[in-house]
Amino acid sequence: MKIQTLAPKVYVPLLAAHAAVLVAEPARVLSWSYALVLLVLLFTLFLAGRRLRMSVAHNRPWWTMLLLALAMQLAAFGLLLTDSLVHPQGTLVQFDPTFYFCSSSLLLTLAAVYNPVGPLHRWASALDAVLACAVAGLFYALLRGVIRHDTAQASAASFVMWMFDAMALFVVACVTLRFATTKRADERRFFVVLLVFAWAELVFPAIHNRFILSSESYLPELCLDLPFVVLGLRLSQRRNVWFRWYRPSRRVHLVTGGISPFVLSMALCLLAFVQLDRNRAIAFGAMAVGIASYAMRVALLLGHHLRQEGELKHLQRGLRQTVIHDELTGLLNRRGFYRNFDRAWERSTRDRLPLTVALVDIDMFKTYNDTHGHLAGDDCLAKVGRALQQEADAYGDLTVARYGGEEFAVLLLGRDRMMAEHILQRLRLCVEALRIASRRSRHGVVTVSVGLAARDEGEPGEKPALLHQADQALYAAKHAGRNCLRWFAPSLHASELDRHG
Ligand code: GH3
Ligand code: MG
Ligand code: MG
Repeated sequence: MKIQTLAPKVYVPLLAAHAAVLVAEPARVLSWSYALVLLVLLFTLFLAGRRLRMSVAHNRPWWTMLLLALAMQLAAFGLLLTDSLVHPQGTLVQFDPTFYFCSSSLLLTLAAVYNPVGPLHRWASALDAVLACAVAGLFYALLRGVIRHDTAQASAASFVMWMFDAMALFVVACVTLRFATTKRADERRFFVVLLVFAWAELVFPAIHNRFILSSESYLPELCLDLPFVVLGLRLSQRRNVWFRWYRPSRRVHLVTGGISPFVLSMALCLLAFVQLDRNRAIAFGAMAVGIASYAMRVALLLGHHLRQEGELKHLQRGLRQTVIHDELTGLLNRRGFYRNFDRAWERSTRDRLPLTVALVDIDMFKTYNDTHGHLAGDDCLAKVGRALQQEADAYGDLTVARYGGEEFAVLLLGRDRMMAEHILQRLRLCVEALRIASRRSRHGVVTVSVGLAARDEGEPGEKPALLHQADQALYAAKHAGRNCLRWFAPSLHASELDRHG
């Protein structure tokens, strides 16, 4: 039989038997009641054990913690049963289950704070675990103090009730916050289970405690089964049917990331405050732990963010360089060229400086590729690019970029036409001097043609127009036989500009 169908078939008769016992009120009704709670719990433990066996290795710690939490509840209800057998009215004096209830809450909290993949996982989880232990310890100290001394008084019973509620609320807060930021599907499957159980552990025992104090009937005892029944039904379903729509947003991450450590430290400080009248040493110690661990958490987070900021800056620098550089030649690419062109244009306008743009194009490069192969073509491009850059470096801050394909662009700011021409002639000659053999070239080596266009001091104009003029001049250089340099002249005739002519 499938476990999904088996679970209700086990729980329904157990709940019915429990209700019958509570209504019939036979001798030792409490003992019968606890025995039935134990049976319900045992079946839920079996279901949790089954999920633990089925879980993947990295999720096992969570399922183990849930299983242990249930085992603690088993011990607690076992003690309650023993107590009811020895004292039919259930005094809690001789056999105190509080330790096991607190341990169960602690294990649920530990499951909520355990995070093997978070950015600060090791240290943050360790700090949170210390805080969770301190909180559970304080709850236990407060409850134990009251139960040992004055359980008979109504005020003490009410204090115990509120303390248990507070403990369950604390677990609910931790689990809900954790669930709110859980993204991975397998993690979510566990945290939906934990969330449902934590809320059931808050609601049903609270109802039980209030009704048991105010009513003569034993029926509220049925509430003790319900958290385990709810959990068991959830455990028997492998597929997540609840909260499937929910996905944590960035804002939820930010908010819960800030609140989570605060909740633990705040809970500890609040409990320390309640403890102040009873035991000052424990109270001050707990407050110190609460504040110190919060400060450490903040310091950890700050350190993490600073480290990340450094890494991001480094990455950003690298990315910026990659975006504006050409991989093959190592020169600026077209984007980098435009960035420098914009700056140079602004300076030229502001300081009334001449600005020259040169387009340098490798001659007959298609033929070179066809003859020597594409890889040799790449190699040639890289050599030409490096040579142009090295030669340009000798003249200071010239911009040399790979404008596209086998075309390079050079920017000369503050150089008059004569100087610009001199520099570009040197660049052209340095390529020729590389003596890269080109079998089908007229010169026997790789050469370049250069087209130049200038904006004189204070001259108005448009950036694209200057580039267009340099392009036209380059066509003219090609037309003039290649391996030469031409200035843009307005008189250039259209037919002269046919580079393939
Ligand atoms: P021209 O003298 O008129 O400039 O003739 P060309 O053959 O150099 O000009 P064309 O525009 O006809 O051909 C350019 C060639 O450049 C074609 C293309 O395969 C080659 N090319 C462009 N980018 C690369 C590259 O990154 N690597 C290689 N190996 N070849 C490239
Ligand atoms: Mg070419
Ligand atoms: Mg070209």
